[in-house]
Order: sequence, then structure tokens, then C-alpha cells
Amino acid sequence: MQTLAEVRAAVERLALPERGTIGGRLTAAADGATFENVSPRDGRVLGLVPRMGAADIDAAVAAARAAFEDGRWRTLTPKARKRILFALADRMEAEADELALMETLDTGKPITDSRNIDIPLAIQTVRWYAEALDKVYGEVGPGNAAKLSIAVHEPLGVIGAITPWNFPLHMAMWKVAPALAMGNSVVLKPAEQSPLTAMRVAELAIEAGLPAGCFNVVTGFGDPAGAALARHMDVDMITFTGSGPVGRKLMIYSGESNLKRVSLELGGKAPQIVFADCPDFDAAAEAAAWGVFFNQGEVCTAASRLLVQQEIADEFMAKVVEVARSIRVGDPLDPATRFGAMVSREQLGTALRYIDTARNEGDRLLLGGRQVRTDSGGFYLEPTIFDCVAESSTLAREEVFGPVLGALTFKDTKDALRIANDTIYGLASGLWTGSLDRAMTVSRQLRAGLVWVNGWDACDITMPFGGFKQSGFGRDRSLHAMHKYADLKSITFTVRDTNT
Ligand code: ADP
Repeated sequence: MQTLAEVRAAVERLALPERGTIGGRLTAAADGATFENVSPRDGRVLGLVPRMGAADIDAAVAAARAAFEDGRWRTLTPKARKRILFALADRMEAEADELALMETLDTGKPITDSRNIDIPLAIQTVRWYAEALDKVYGEVGPGNAAKLSIAVHEPLGVIGAITPWNFPLHMAMWKVAPALAMGNSVVLKPAEQSPLTAMRVAELAIEAGLPAGCFNVVTGFGDPAGAALARHMDVDMITFTGSGPVGRKLMIYSGESNLKRVSLELGGKAPQIVFADCPDFDAAAEAAAWGVFFNQGEVCTAASRLLVQQEIADEFMAKVVEVARSIRVGDPLDPATRFGAMVSREQLGTALRYIDTARNEGDRLLLGGRQVRTDSGGFYLEPTIFDCVAESSTLAREEVFGPVLGALTFKDTKDALRIANDTIYGLASGLWTGSLDRAMTVSRQLRAGLVWVNGWDACDITMPFGGFKQSGFGRDRSLHAMHKYADLKSITFTVRDTNT
């Protein structure tokens, strides 16, 4: 698939999934309800998706519980579980082109990104946790000859995963793969804007031999479907990536129901700090632009606050604008496109309102700011840059979740750290400097779960991902994510002395 025409032809041939999966069976909503799945590429309806609600959540949780209790998954040997998860990854790989098309049609992200980033990383995630599942060891306590204590990792039970629309399959696999690897059952509620890949992967999981009920996909809206999952008395944990307001609700639902665990990966307002001793201004300018414009800015780690040292600000901002100016907003299905549509009319509207607010508050517009490609019927916004952004301005404080960069200046290291940490969020952060001492000092003082030095978005599945402060708690990726879906059980054997 090299040309736009070839990609379009592949879309014509594409069969879109139409059902959720409950208890190993493809399932419509209990009451038959559906909703229209709109593509942000052209505003057209792609198809109908089951609009599931509380009754469907009940059925999915019951199926997940039954699978967990009878041990059809968790009691398999690690080798057997690994084989099934590898088979799932292989099937995803065999359908990678189709999954990539679904992801792009659902979200408006460039097909090149879906093919090279989203789908391969989702597959890699499944493989990584399959490989890891027999490498998580328990502990043996010190004890003595009369007592042997062991601590074993026990799966939690039924995990409810509620996932966002920005990297639909990738984020879903960050949760589903480690949860399954630890022996849990999962009920996944994908975002209503982008349910297709999750629906298809649940089908592939059945083909791969995952026992029925271990992985259920319930499609529908946040309320009622997501809320019913989070309020359910028989769900042991909710693992969530999404907005702060919904994260707050999930904690309330937990408190009001069964005190289920909650793991939250929420938003961010990531600072990227460029010191005057930056070793590579061209690379930093690329990172400044793509750090916020990648995926149309719809990224929780988007580098939406650029902090530039005063003496280099004018020159550096000129470079950033030059990079951003070269970004062409295009048809997401065109393999040449690197910047596509925003996910929905609502998200576009939110970003446009933030742009208006920035203008009204006196931030200086350097580039963009307009909706474009309106003839397409889709939801497109130009890469937008403001500078002279005041620390108190809305653009410096609130997450846009769109392609809008706000640049601020700072005097010295202390000033940079003060501004960088002056946020309710603490997910990603980064700095560019040629000084090893500054790199080490500043990276330890940034209050964020991720720090990238002389690069952006540079770590991978091997390292934990998650935030401090109101960016949430709990970590995705790495072996730590596996521990999140299990708990320690201490077992002590009292040993009788058989010599006496
Ligand atoms: P956004 O505002 O960017 O769409 P959300 O946090 O609303 O992000 O959505 C992330 C996920 O949370 C989606 O799967 C959505 O359906 C779900 N969701 C939204 N509202 C609720 C809710 N009240 N309870 C549970 N899940 C919800």
C-alpha cells in the first residue's frame, strides 16, 4: 500500500467489526441499541457499533468472573499462557494493515503513524508481556528451619479497563496485556470514538485460543457503559487512561461501590526546557514542534509548554516555526501525510476555543490558529504556535489536547524549574542542555513521571509510564505494570522437625 489510491482501495475491501465480545461470543447490545461511528477524516458514518449499557456490562463481568474462578486461564502453565498470547500477537501482525486502516478511519491519525507506530507497538506490547509472564518471581522470607514463608503474586480477578481514543489499540494493550499475563480476566470498554481495533482484537483473541470470558470488549459510551463497569460490585480494579474529570469520577465510583482499586493515567501539560547550552538546536527545534504536533497534539505527553532561555528565544522560536510551517495538514489515508484530522468535532471545537482564549489573553500567535480542509467534511486544525505566553495564562496552565504550542521564556535554571513545576500535572517533561551536571540536577527536580534529556518521547515498553500529581498514579509499561494487576499473598508453612 504505497499510494493514496491503493490505500483507498484497501478501505473499500475492509470489513469493519460490528459486535463486541462477551464470554467468547460476538455480541450485540442486549437491547439491540447501536450508535453511529463517525470518521473524523470526512465526517462520514463508518458503520454502527453496539451501544452497550449496564446489562451488557453485567454479562461481561459475569463471564470474566466465571473464567477467573474456574481457573481456565490463570491455572494454565506459564508456557501455555505464553503460547496463546504469542498466537494473539501473531494474528494481530497478520492483520496489521487492516488494524492500521481501522485506527486511522476511527481517529483521523495518519495511516503512516498507524502502520509504523500504533499497531506495531500494540503488537510489541502483547509480545513483551507474553515473554515476561514467567519471569515474575515471588519471594522467600528469611524464616528458620521451623518456618518457611513465601510471598506469591496472585492475580486480582476481574480487571475493568477504560481506554481513550488517541492511541486506541496501543493504550488498550498497555492494560490488557499485563493484566492477562498475570492471569486476570479483563473487560475492556474502549472509547466510543474509536472502538474498532479493540472489537477486532477481541475476535482475534478467540481465534488465538484465549479461553472464553478472559477478554471481553463492551462498546458504548462513558456513561452508562464505562460508569457501570466502574461501579460494578464484582470488578476488582479499574485501569484507566483518559481525562482528569473522568478520573475523579472513577475514584468516587470506587468509594461508592466495592473499593475496587483504581489506576489513573490522566492528562499533562508537559514542559520542554531548552537551555542556551543546548547541544543541538536543530534537533531541539524538531522535538519542540513534533513533541506537540505528533498525533495532532492529542497526546497526554504532548510537549505543550516550551520553555526557552531568554537569550536564545528569538532565534530558537524562528527554528521551531520553520519546522512547524513545513507540516502539511493532509488526508490521513495518504501515506505522505504526517499530520491528519482531530478525533472529533468536539475536540476540534475545544482546541479552537483555547486558541481564542489565548488570543484574548494576549499570547502572541506565531503560526496557524485556523480550522482547515473544511471541504473534506472532516475536523482539521493547523499546527498552532503562540509565544510570549504568560505563566498565568490559560494556555500555560490547561491541557488543550490539540496541536497548540505555548512558548514561555526563563532566566536561569532556578527560574526554569519553578515554571516547569508550576502545574497541577506531572506526567512528562524534558530538557535540552550540554551540561551533564545540569541534566542530572534538573531531571531529579522535575516533578514528573517521565523526564527526557536531549530528546523527546524517548523511552519504551521497558520503562514505567505514568504521572505524579494530578496526572494520576499507577504505572503502565514495564514489569511494574504486571505487579499492578496482582497482589502479594504471604504463605507460611510451619515445619515439624521430623528428626525427633
Ligand atoms: P475525552 O474527554 O478526551 O474523550 P474521557 O476521559 O471522557 O476523555 O474518555 C476516556 C474514556 O473514559 C472513554 O472510554 C470514555 O468512554 C470513558 N468515560 C467517559 N465518561 C465516563 C464515566 N462517567 N465513567 C466511566 N468511563 C467514562
